[in-house]
Amino acid sequence: MQIINHDEIIEELNKKVDLSNDNINYILNKAKKLKGLDYDDAITLLKVENEAQINKIFETAKFVKDEIYGKRLVLFAPLYVSNVCNNECLYCAFRKSNKTIKRNTLKMEEIKKEAEALINQGHKRVLLVSGEGLAKKALPYTLDALEAIYSVKNANGNIRRINVNIAALEVEDYKKLKKANIGTYQLFQETYHRETYKFMHKSGSKSDYDYHLGAMDRAMEAGIDDIGIGVLFGLYDYKYEMLALFQHIRHLEERFGFGPHTVSVPRLEPATGSDIASNPPYPLSDTDFKKIIAILRVTIPYTGIILSTRETAETRREALDLGISQISAGSKSNPGGYSSKEQSNEQFSLGDHRSLHEVIEDIVDFGFIPSFCTGCYRLGRVGADFMDLAKPGAIKSHCYPNAIFSFSEYLEDFASANLKEKGYSLIKDMMKTEIHKERIKENIKIALKDIENGKRDVYV
Ligand code: SAM
Ligand code: SF4
Repeated sequence: MQIINHDEIIEELNKKVDLSNDNINYILNKAKKLKGLDYDDAITLLKVENEAQINKIFETAKFVKDEIYGKRLVLFAPLYVSNVCNNECLYCAFRKSNKTIKRNTLKMEEIKKEAEALINQGHKRVLLVSGEGLAKKALPYTLDALEAIYSVKNANGNIRRINVNIAALEVEDYKKLKKANIGTYQLFQETYHRETYKFMHKSGSKSDYDYHLGAMDRAMEAGIDDIGIGVLFGLYDYKYEMLALFQHIRHLEERFGFGPHTVSVPRLEPATGSDIASNPPYPLSDTDFKKIIAILRVTIPYTGIILSTRETAETRREALDLGISQISAGSKSNPGGYSSKEQSNEQFSLGDHRSLHEVIEDIVDFGFIPSFCTGCYRLGRVGADFMDLAKPGAIKSHCYPNAIFSFSEYLEDFASANLKEKGYSLIKDMMKTEIHKERIKENIKIALKDIENGKRDVYV
């Protein structure tokens, strides 16, 4: 089974395309119909280098983002459970031979403390992340960790959804992972370019390109219908990676009827003990980074795009407008980082050091509504069902109210007086500009009263 066709990518990259204003406008007008673009069109957009045309792509991406997602932005925090790893990924501080960090695999009690610290900040969604040092014990450990996180409930609430970013597994193991009530299963190919992959992954199980690439097929065969893929930008030419990413998505769509729920766009960041992380072989400029986000948004409009805390606050701000639908906030990338004072042993240097509260304040000032909603996943609206729901009208009747409810819960339980005032004023504006049906407005008002009176976990 061939997932990535290298020769076809090279052929596409070398092919001359029509970059006239007429053709670019034609493609962008098509994108405005919110039905996505053919990969041929996406390839043409990738080849645009002219500043005025790039700005047009950005404007179109903003239009698509606004029409489909509006001003909602989903927030989550990563929870690193182990930095022990048997692999030798040259860009990562967790790689086996790196002697500059202290290794730690959290015990279940410690994981619970991390979950509690996140709950007390106001988080509802976490991404469980782990190094790959536990070999055969990795899955039982992960299953216990999931149970431990879900078990923590206190006066400030609980974690309602755990996405997972762990090593590639076999089908049977993915079945167990699905049973454990995970949200999205994420795994990044890092680079789709086989030779670069081989160079970057010196040893350990992750060094097998084909096994890693086949992970999403195995996950979907096991019934996991909510998956997230990604590229670590900076390792190889971004145009090659984007074409390959589209091939990967096309393959999954053809084989399973739907593609990934999310695409992540991490950029290589400095990591202790890694020269490559500080000197990316293919550094990605801010403009190209934004171009990638914008092209993803117009090509696959109903797929979430995730930006991590790795980016600086300024870059994140610009990226939100172009199409990002989820961001991490208040993150630590060292196991135990939320509940202990230990701040070393990070996976990479974080570009954004602000707390969840500060990030939320900023998002609100920027006119975005932070959402902690987990409604779809808990009502079983994932995979193809989610794609059906993710149409502009349905988003207005489901996602907006849910974003408003989960944000209102945050405002009631965690916000300062100042943020509470700003937050409710934003909710009021949003009700005017985004919700047009009287019946939905009335239902939102009733639910907001209930939340004010102490009701929690409200969603439709
Ligand atoms: N061990 C699993 C794996 O490698 O897929 C999951 C955990 S790994 C820590 C999660 C992701 O971190 C990797 O997929 C990689 O993209 C990202 N990563 C590693 N080193 C990085 C760096 N220096 N800068 C940015 N992202 C990095
Ligand atoms: Fe280990 Fe993942 Fe880091 Fe590679 S990227 S060294 S597999 S934690």
